[in-house]
Amino acid sequence: MSTAQTAPKNDEQAWRDELRHAIRSPRQLIERLGLSEVNLDGAETAHGDFPLLVPHSYIERIEPGRIDDPLLRQVMPTALETTPQPAGFSTDPLAEQSPDSDSAILQKYANRALLVTTGACAIHCRYCFRRSYPYSQQNSWRAALRYWHREGAPEEVILSGGDPLMLGDQALCELIDGLEQIAGLRRLRIHTRMPIALPARITTALVERFSASPLQIVWVVHANHPQEINDAVCASLARLRHGNMTLLNQSVLLRGVNDDPKPLAQLSEQLFSAGALPYYLHQLDRISGAAHFAVSPTTASSIIAELAASLPGYLLPRLVREDPGAASKTTLAPPPR
Ligand SMILES: *Cc1c(COP(=O)(O)O)cnc(C)c1O
Ligand code: SF4
Repeated sequence: MSTAQTAPKNDEQAWRDELRHAIRSPRQLIERLGLSEVNLDGAETAHGDFPLLVPHSYIERIEPGRIDDPLLRQVMPTALETTPQPAGFSTDPLAEQSPDSDSAILQKYANRALLVTTGACAIHCRYCFRRSYPYSQQNSWRAALRYWHREGAPEEVILSGGDPLMLGDQALCELIDGLEQIAGLRRLRIHTRMPIALPARITTALVERFSASPLQIVWVVHANHPQEINDAVCASLARLRHGNMTLLNQSVLLRGVNDDPKPLAQLSEQLFSAGALPYYLHQLDRISGAAHFAVSPTTASSIIAELAASLPGYLLPRLVREDPGAASKTTLAPPPR
């Protein structure tokens, strides 16, 4: 056999095919994983609000027949999402939806701005704080580039979404080309769940383009549980590392998924082996439909205290919360000593 036949496909067609074949209905996922106990009506109702989407490479990491699987819980719609939500849970908990702004730029903090590139993702996470975001009102990132060219940009631009890697390589190249021409911009950060959700998206061509940039590049990936880290994920992170770029991870603290120091410690260790350092562990944003994932501040602090006792300091993520109007995220733990 020639190497062309044995090498795994690593091009744009491969990940687009995988995305096209992703599972997009509760019934399909239930059949695929043999989940007879799932309440299909409840799942269908929640799916109507925010549709199920999960690629096969992620499903392969879910244990068949296990209704409380920590990965399944991140993607399977449930009736809990459509029950009345406690006080404080809303469709815009971070006050991001300004009615008079159709800009793709979201700048809350000094020196760094989010660029909302697309509303699309390769996976739909049930706890997502942007599940109700009015992306259709967004102007394109091209308008944002023109604005920054004219008015100047902050030192750091963060590509966000949705998932910025839902853009194809051609659009991404156009975007990076544009960013590289903006005076004053030094760092480019990419917030993406792709290396975890659809690792095939991290193609050699993509890595080459980013690593050739004169901008300093920081990737912030999003994994919540060690079971999400398999060989394909490690290989995608290795490709990014070989491009000499910084890799960080952010997680969301989720009840029934990772509200336990043991998997969190494992996650930090496995990510480090794969070349990524833990950055943030987010307290859940209080988005309507996600209340069943909330972990109380007291429990969260004791989880972090146990984690701190079992990990070197550099493998301990910072427990943070986002408060509307604050000048940065609020660090809850580790507490000052
Ligand atoms: C989280 C966030 C950032 C990035 O904050 P860092 O603390 O630098 O990681 C930037 N802008 C917005 C709107 C954010 O929510
Ligand atoms: S990948 Fe990120 S933006 Fe997309 S649904 Fe999941 S948490 Fe939300």
